[in-house]
Amino acid sequence: MAFNVQEIRKDFPILQREVNGKPLVYLDNAATSQKPQQVIDCIVDYYSNYNANIHRGVHTLSQEATDAYEAARKKIQQHFNITKPHEVIFTSGTTHGINLVANGFTKFLSKGDEVIVSALEHHSNIVPWQMLCERTGAILKVIPIEENGELILSEYEKILSEKTKLVFVNHISNALGIINPIKEIIDKAHKNGAAVLVDGAQACSHIKSNLQALDVDFYVTSAHKMCGPTGVGILYGKEEWLNKLPPYQGGGEMIDEVTFEKTTYAGLPHKFEAGTPNIAGGIAFGAAIDYLNSIGFDAIESHENNLLAYATEQLTAIEGLKIYGTGVAKTSVISFNIEGIHPYDIGTIVDKLGIAVRTGHHCAQPIMDFYKIPGTVRASFAFYNTKEEVDALVSAVNKAKTMLT
Ligand SMILES: *Cc1c(COP(=O)(O)O)cnc(C)c1O
Repeated sequence: MAFNVQEIRKDFPILQREVNGKPLVYLDNAATSQKPQQVIDCIVDYYSNYNANIHRGVHTLSQEATDAYEAARKKIQQHFNITKPHEVIFTSGTTHGINLVANGFTKFLSKGDEVIVSALEHHSNIVPWQMLCERTGAILKVIPIEENGELILSEYEKILSEKTKLVFVNHISNALGIINPIKEIIDKAHKNGAAVLVDGAQACSHIKSNLQALDVDFYVTSAHKMCGPTGVGILYGKEEWLNKLPPYQGGGEMIDEVTFEKTTYAGLPHKFEAGTPNIAGGIAFGAAIDYLNSIGFDAIESHENNLLAYATEQLTAIEGLKIYGTGVAKTSVISFNIEGIHPYDIGTIVDKLGIAVRTGHHCAQPIMDFYKIPGTVRASFAFYNTKEEVDALVSAVNKAKTMLT
């Protein structure tokens, strides 16, 4: 099927609406993606036709819901090329998955052990590890970045040692769009006996990751970044790691037997899935994956790369505009500022023109500190954005510049 952006846009009801009397130009995809009708229908279908609690019922609705939920798990397993379905743990999202692993690692770390994080991380991939270090006395080390936003791998090699127990890095930076060389990072960590957690929240909408080929120990992501609903995501973990990690939350569903003397835990994946999950969300996550694959990740990447190149060229032509994160390997995220203008003021004016961009630190304050700026304006493009929308952005930014200087 040939890639036809106008046809694709028809799948997204929200893209037809107006904001402030102008057609919506949605360029905040790095914060969350929009949802196609197929995903919305899937949620409506669940609540209209087979809503029931899963895994414990013998009645028909419960079996239908369980089958659909487990089918979604298999879909996700296949999409990320994960070896076994029970290595896919449903979570409420990336943040939940990271906290689950960070909490479990309390058991494996002692004073003087080291963990490594990159300078490009989202707060959700910094704070849980700082909390882990506080609990255990482990030391947090940071891989620094170059001026262009790329990680300095030679510095990573210097801080990596036999003391390193865990390395966490995002696959793609949400603040700058830089794609990190995670395969190299994983291989080097493994040579030193350290495990690696990759935050794939930003990568999952742009590229199809092969987790077996990456040989990563843990990978986390959120459905809402890839056309799925909010409040659901996955933690992938290698089976041997998931067996070693203690459960995160206690409750129904995660137990084998409960007495007041001793409780034994259920096997994978249920050990980590306490309580009633986001059933509709999990099923709709599967629908989102089907939808993206029906378009195809090659087509998605190529369209987004064209938008990135065109927008970079057009924005760079604006005098006084500086783009942060100019590294070679990049996805369709552009973070920028105009000299002498606060990013918030640009965001406010372009919103009046119907354009949704994000302004601020993008949950990555250390990056803003590195560039000594309060924040940036971030335009992030998805496969349903068009060249005309880039033109609308450029014209709005020019207008804002004229009004503010
Ligand atoms: C969005 C994002 C997160 C946080 O995801 P939640 O869905 O809010 O848990 C973490 N890391 C990166 C790189 C992100 O883009």
